[in-house]
Amino acid sequence: MTCRKLKILGLVFALSYALSALADFPQPIVEALKYLSQTTAAPSLTFIQDHDVKIIFKNMKELGPLYATNDALTVITEDDHQIIFVNSRHEKAPPQALAAVISHEILHSDRQNSLMEEMVAWTREAQTWEELQSKYPELKNIPIGKYPLVDRENAIVSLIQRHQLKIEIENNPTYQGLPLHSPGF
Ligand SMILES: [Zn+2]
Repeated sequence: MTCRKLKILGLVFALSYALSALADFPQPIVEALKYLSQTTAAPSLTFIQDHDVKIIFKNMKELGPLYATNDALTVITEDDHQIIFVNSRHEKAPPQALAAVISHEILHSDRQNSLMEEMVAWTREAQTWEELQSKYPELKNIPIGKYPLVDRENAIVSLIQRHQLKIEIENNPTYQGLPLHSPGF
């Protein structure tokens, strides 16, 4: 077999591997991951495939009253699998906004969290959103209140611009009691 044929076979294999991995996700998540691949957070796509990360929509109330209003949440299962739950109210959100929140949650890949990990994750989420906004400027014209997830992304960008992100995270009741640092952060 020629080298060229081998190369093509390799490419087809890599592509079908990537697509079959994506096929497990709900369609809006598949779309979101395609947008994620266009950002500086693209390496997370390989991480998702290599670590068999699951991303699913979830009625957060089912996880308990504490989590009812969470936009997204990462759980590490007993057999060390990362599952990202995205609030099912965001199923119709623009996939670019889903990409942004996924780029945040994917960083929570172990059981330990910290204020610094949240700082990095929120900053990355805003960066993903801003990169996609400059690629797709129509995202800047979405009216406030149309998609709660878009409102969230714009709010995080605004917090960073006003140098308020650290204070926001420190005062967020969800993060009370978190250490300053965790492995890798
Ligand atoms: Zn987080």
